[in-house]
Amino acid sequence: MTNKKSAAKGVSRRDALKLSGLAMGGLAMSGMLGGCTSSDASDTPVVDEGEQNSYFESLDSCYPGEPLAENEMRITFMGSWYFQRLAQACNSVFVEVGGGPDGTAADQFVFDCGSGITAKYNAMRIPMSKLDKIFVTHLHGDHMSDLTHIYCFGPAYDRKSPLYVWGPSNSGLTYYDPYRKVNRGPYEDGTKAFCENFRKAMRWHTESFSFQTSAIDGWTRPGWLPDDASPVGDDAENDAYALYPIELDWTVEGGVAYDNPTTGVKVTHFPAIHDRMGSISYKLEWKGLSMIFTGDTKPGNYVIRQANSGVDVLIHEMTTPPEVWVEKFSGLDPDTTDPATWAAYVQMAKNVQDSSHTVQKAFGYILSQLNVAPRLAVGTHFPATDDTIKDALSDIRLWYKNGDVTVATDLMVLNVSKTQIHQRKAVVSDYVWPNIPQSSGATYEMPLYNDGATSDPLAQLDPDRDEITGEPWEER
Ligand SMILES: [Zn+2]
Ligand SMILES: [Zn+2]
Repeated sequence: MTNKKSAAKGVSRRDALKLSGLAMGGLAMSGMLGGCTSSDASDTPVVDEGEQNSYFESLDSCYPGEPLAENEMRITFMGSWYFQRLAQACNSVFVEVGGGPDGTAADQFVFDCGSGITAKYNAMRIPMSKLDKIFVTHLHGDHMSDLTHIYCFGPAYDRKSPLYVWGPSNSGLTYYDPYRKVNRGPYEDGTKAFCENFRKAMRWHTESFSFQTSAIDGWTRPGWLPDDASPVGDDAENDAYALYPIELDWTVEGGVAYDNPTTGVKVTHFPAIHDRMGSISYKLEWKGLSMIFTGDTKPGNYVIRQANSGVDVLIHEMTTPPEVWVEKFSGLDPDTTDPATWAAYVQMAKNVQDSSHTVQKAFGYILSQLNVAPRLAVGTHFPATDDTIKDALSDIRLWYKNGDVTVATDLMVLNVSKTQIHQRKAVVSDYVWPNIPQSSGATYEMPLYNDGATSDPLAQLDPDRDEITGEPWEER
């Protein structure tokens, strides 16, 4: 009985995926081919519904560097899944608010920075100076791995400010490990400890760059920086390599993470339910517009309370059903796999999801529970292809019948104003060089290693090094 049931479930999910993929493929093709029609079905190109995102491709195009209107918020997805692949880096959401000079952002924020996301920021021509405020939802690698690149290379480019990292406090967890028969925890596993250890781990890199000093001339402490925030390690507070952790109590609902009266942006945080204690979600409010980014979470009442009176954009994590995980990750075919084996794999996938994630149907349920629907609901942390998207939307619609919903993928851009939310796809070059704006203003003091007037890039090399000298290659 069990076998029959699980097999039937697998097949039905699989058939639904196949059908939905074909439908999406057909839609996209009719859009792409325009007036080109064929009476012979055999002429139709074979489309693998798991290899394309025709919804995203169908969006209007936009290009990097577009000016931002004074009352406009722009949300760009720079990473949208948890295992980086070429189409989707790990997680990051970039939020900019208008009001800066000449159509620039008055303020901007990085929410999570998983592996691969700096390539997307670079493709969007976002200079390193704009990646100075990082809000981490939790310390899983797919949400913080690219901190390495952001931290290490910011000062060598144009980040003439320290790096500020918000994130959850220690989990406080202790538990008994039955295999090793030892107690585990409590560990120093919060954002402050992470930054302290991270700073140490980056020592070789930062010293290697110290022929270009990173002390910032004329730096003043930002008014929004909490009084008790200070750099980890021994960096001066005005050093571009200074790393300021701003730890947020993960148990608090509605705590203030950032409040900037100059730009009008306020960021608050609330608990997420994910894997173990110590994950949070963020809500950003500005000039009557708002967005929530849950990060990873199981379905929770926190987000319902936070979004209940209406947010403009609700970005919530979402996962496919466990059967899809099994089929996609393992390559097992439910039609030919021994039913007990299939069921065991599905149960394993379900166990992971149950501890940590929101299945797509549950996302629909959450949306249906809100007093005021968000103007746009976005599922992310999701492998976005025609088959999975269509399946997700049909599950979401079981509960949430009418509101606008979309599924994020990298380089999806949302222009949010009071009157509209415009979803577009950014068209970028694969070959962008990082941008070092010359007008950034701030300058560095003298290098750490300098011989008076000039820096000495050779100061840290082995004096006994066996180097080819005299540049003999210049003879040709
Ligand atoms: Zn994740
Ligand atoms: Zn996670």
